Amino acid sequence: MVYLDNSATTPVCPTALRRMTAALTEHFGNPSSLHALGASAENLIETARGPIAEKWGCDPAQIIFTSGGTEANNTAIFSAAETLRRRGGHIVAAAIEHDSVLSPLKTLAGRGYEVTLVPPREDGVMLAGELSAAVRPDTILVCLMLANNETGAVQPVAEAAGAVRRVAPHAWMHCDAVQAFGKMDFSVTALDIDSCSISAHKIHGPKGAGALYVAKSKRLIPLLHGGGQERGLRPGTQGVPAIAGFGGAAEELPPLIEASAKMSALLRRLTDGVKAIPAVTVLPVGNPLPYMLGLAMPGVKSEILLHFLESRDIYVSSGSACSRGKPSHVLTAQGLPPAVVDSAVRVSLSRYNTPGDVDALLEGLEAAAKRFLSTA
Ligand code: PLP
Repeated sequence: MVYLDNSATTPVCPTALRRMTAALTEHFGNPSSLHALGASAENLIETARGPIAEKWGCDPAQIIFTSGGTEANNTAIFSAAETLRRRGGHIVAAAIEHDSVLSPLKTLAGRGYEVTLVPPREDGVMLAGELSAAVRPDTILVCLMLANNETGAVQPVAEAAGAVRRVAPHAWMHCDAVQAFGKMDFSVTALDIDSCSISAHKIHGPKGAGALYVAKSKRLIPLLHGGGQERGLRPGTQGVPAIAGFGGAAEELPPLIEASAKMSALLRRLTDGVKAIPAVTVLPVGNPLPYMLGLAMPGVKSEILLHFLESRDIYVSSGSACSRGKPSHVLTAQGLPPAVVDSAVRVSLSRYNTPGDVDALLEGLEAAAKRFLSTA
């Protein structure tokens, strides 16, 4: 099997699996219980906070565990809207944000907030100046992701935060770093943001765990109401196995310099190989993470190419996994022609991929061009 859909989700790494097994078998107590079994489950949660905080550049006490990136984004967005309502009702976001940001913003628009979506350049990168130009004194929330899930384009978050604060100093800067965490060097403090979301299953941890960082100056309003878990900000018995696996995955992340060198070499092999296939177009991308490549075979719809590759046991995705079948709002916002958007495929790598995987994909693409395009 050649798995090249790592932006959708990643296989679980050995440390994550070990931690999860221990949580499910030995440390199965309720982390809120006062006895020793409860304490050992709680200890697993606290142990998980350490490596995540270290790699995120924050204090472990500032991390709130959630069920994933979606919940973390929702919690930050609805908290900003509610706590800053008296300051205004205007929200600015990048048009390329993930649905777990765009959808809560749509809900807020239905409640009377005004939402301005700013498009990126053709290469998928947002201009900090264009984002801040949309900000007004009554802007209360600005959302800019760190790396896009369809293109891998890294966004100028720190620069945008600075520019936004000059116009609307009280505005809440939220950053979805789900695709960036573990793949690039950043810290929440250096980015000068108020909240940030990450997710375990994008870094070889399990599905069902994510985390939200919130600056001390901002107040979270819990989405759920119940017990006092996660300082009362995310009530409900914590998913200890998933959280323990998240910590294990963060711990096993290789040093960034080493990982980037390996991934850049793989991506170069992929890009050079794809460029040598005349039927395939490499999609434009600025400032990319070395983990993703967007390509298109104009004349062959994404789904057709995806299933053809699947028949050879090669797994890629058409746009983002969450927006199955719909044309990509990201590529559309970039202004790419509909023929390219309809045939776009995302190839996303992980540290477990090999040059052999890349070569198998290249052979698959050549075979697809022969099969579906009479000119190839
Ligand atoms: N944000 C981005 C950029 C993502 O790529 C994803 C997942 O695809 C999410 C948020 C949602 O994360 P989760 O699947 O943990 O809810």
